[in-house]
Amino acid sequence: MTEELFREDSYLRECSATVIAAEPGKVILDRTVFYPTGGGQPGDQGVLILPDGSELAIIGTVKDDAGIAHLCDENVALPATGTMVTARLDWDRRYLHMRMHSCMHLLCAAVPCGVTGGQIGAEKSRIDFDTGEHVLDKEQITTELNRLVEEDLPLSHRWITSDELDANPDLVRTMSVQPPRGGGRIRLMEVEGVDLQPCGGTHVARTGEIGKVAVAKIENKGKRNRRVNIVFA
Ligand SMILES: [Zn+2]
Repeated sequence: MTEELFREDSYLRECSATVIAAEPGKVILDRTVFYPTGGGQPGDQGVLILPDGSELAIIGTVKDDAGIAHLCDENVALPATGTMVTARLDWDRRYLHMRMHSCMHLLCAAVPCGVTGGQIGAEKSRIDFDTGEHVLDKEQITTELNRLVEEDLPLSHRWITSDELDANPDLVRTMSVQPPRGGGRIRLMEVEGVDLQPCGGTHVARTGEIGKVAVAKIENKGKRNRRVNIVFA
């Protein structure tokens, strides 16, 4: 399996690692800073720097049975198992994902409705809400998001077991998204005083790093569902 360095420190841009498996189109490392597609956040891109200094372009990252798979062109030569490489992120793209992803937590707090889906992107992101009778206002949500950004609130994570969660029903009640059951450890993300939910993604350290944002549009996705689209302002 692959050690997931990004879970503890989302600001790591590169790491040294050893190839534990390689087959056409993918390389699996013993440790990585590359986030795999999941939780609405796209997998990372970047390069693997080989011992001769050449670079292998990584076009995506996904979870695989053997660990985290760094995806590459199927026709390129692959490093052999045991090769030491440097895994380096396309940091500009990842940092945009971190800012957007963190903003999605603020959006969960700004809209007091259940979440039915979402997708994060470097330029725009969206969350689908089951709004019921609740009416969403584009300007009001934009104002609230920017107020939370300006407060420069800290984000932090901690790990909790399913048993600890079961013993703390009040904690579960305060979460904007319900945690998965039956697993081992759950990673809780908190925006101080604003949002608490299970989340494995990568986030910025403080809401001020998100920068100014805006609700681009609110789409009608059925009787009860509304899609809120966010862009950087
Ligand atoms: Zn998150």
